[in-house]
Amino acid sequence: MDSGGLFERIRHQLRQGRLMSARLLIISSVVTVLGFSGVCGSIMLEMRRSAQELSRQTQENLASTISADVNRNIELYDLSLRSVISSLALPQLSQVDPTIRNLILFDHAATAQHFGQLQVFDAKGDLRLDSGTLTPAHINRADEPFFRIHVAQPDFGLYISRPMQHGDAYALVLSRRITAPDGSFAGVVAGSIRFSYFQDLFSRLRLAPHDVIAVLARDGTLIMRTPFAPELLGKNMMARIGMDRMLGQRRGWFSGEGKVDKISRMYVWADSSRPLIALVGRSWSDVFQMWRNEALRIGAILLGLAIIVAGFTVFFIREIDRRAAAERRLEELATTDALTGLTNRRKFDLVMDREWRRAVRARTPIALLIIDADHFKSFNDSFGHPAGDQVLVGIALCIADSANRAGDCAARLGGEEFAVLLPELHAADAQGIAEAIRQKVEVWSEGQAGVTVSIGLASMTPAAGQHWSMLFEAADKALYAAKDLGRNCCVVAASRNDLHLVA
Ligand code: GH3
Ligand code: MG
Ligand code: MG
Repeated sequence: MDSGGLFERIRHQLRQGRLMSARLLIISSVVTVLGFSGVCGSIMLEMRRSAQELSRQTQENLASTISADVNRNIELYDLSLRSVISSLALPQLSQVDPTIRNLILFDHAATAQHFGQLQVFDAKGDLRLDSGTLTPAHINRADEPFFRIHVAQPDFGLYISRPMQHGDAYALVLSRRITAPDGSFAGVVAGSIRFSYFQDLFSRLRLAPHDVIAVLARDGTLIMRTPFAPELLGKNMMARIGMDRMLGQRRGWFSGEGKVDKISRMYVWADSSRPLIALVGRSWSDVFQMWRNEALRIGAILLGLAIIVAGFTVFFIREIDRRAAAERRLEELATTDALTGLTNRRKFDLVMDREWRRAVRARTPIALLIIDADHFKSFNDSFGHPAGDQVLVGIALCIADSANRAGDCAARLGGEEFAVLLPELHAADAQGIAEAIRQKVEVWSEGQAGVTVSIGLASMTPAAGQHWSMLFEAADKALYAAKDLGRNCCVVAASRNDLHLVA
């Protein structure tokens, strides 16, 4: 043990090493790809969160700006209404000229571009004063909601109506109660804000294609909306948009689906304490558009990397396999006899050693035949070396044909000498095989050169501490005996350690 054991060990280590490197290669590739994917995934998630947060902030700023503008104008207009009410209380007012009276009552704010006329109605609802004319028309508004609300609720304060349509144009009516010095109802002062104000305001904003802006009253009534949808104006959105939550939280957002276009959006509001609340909706696909492009780009790069890594892995594994196959082939060549294709001497010794130790462990017999061509020198001399080689191949075929059990090992020991190892066979069974070989060679070479073989056979059940060279020597002696007996015969060495030769 010796070179054989060492050889086996090195071969085993090489095989293990190959398996190990293939496994390591696969594991490291998978870990690399998974690691990359994990890092990129978490970066992309973080980017997605940032995109959402950025959009929320932008929408909140927009909502805040719109709310500030709308409510400031309402406040301004309300100031005008209050100013009319306080001026109406002046006792001297009834004595002045109507032109002067109008100048005192209606300041310039009420005449701004998008504001309608300020009108004063008496307790019966008749129009008494009008900022636009000194001779107001004879109209009565006692049935209008903006009038009735102040009759019914003295403390209502500023009333903002639902959107009202006048021809093609829409407007909001704002009204306040006029209270007589004795506390009784003395009429209503009212004015309007035209929708051209909202259209002008919205047209100045740069909006994404699917953006929606809604202006809502505190009771959930939709006052104005862009894109303009007249059928929705005045509708109560309270339940639909969770108005309670909006009123409870100064600023915030929710996700919802558009009533008109069924597009899913992020809706953001800001400053919900004001009379009118602005709600800015942006479609989720617009919110994530830039992120999506980026994610697709990173995903494509990642996929490309994964393909490259997989490609390299497959290439290297193939290379490992190719080398392993080449090593196996080399090993085969190193253990095979080139002329006959049988196992060569070096390999035979390894097998012998292995089987011998197995037989020792299992306490089973092991048989060995040594086969030698008879008078081969003279055959060579007569027919030439190449013809001799052909005969050696023929003999090898006869041997291989007979020794064909799983553990059997047929080898060319060198020159015209062969050996067959037959594990687990007693002499009697081995003798049958030896005889079969001898006869096959005889039959095969009949009519040709008439080459025969002599066979020495030994079988024993080895004990611990014994070396297989014992078996070899016994078979060799038996072969000599066969030669002495006149060749073309088999001789069996006597069993056990008593190596008598028997014919
Ligand atoms: P015996 O019956 O006693 O075995 O006689 P032998 O002539 O076979 O024995 P010997 O040992 O005298 O001669 C062996 C011959 O085998 C010598 C050599 O010419 C021949 N030989 C050995 N190896 C080869 C080989 O590879 N090819 C051929 N063609 N001949 C070989
Ligand atoms: Mg010979
Ligand atoms: Mg010989």
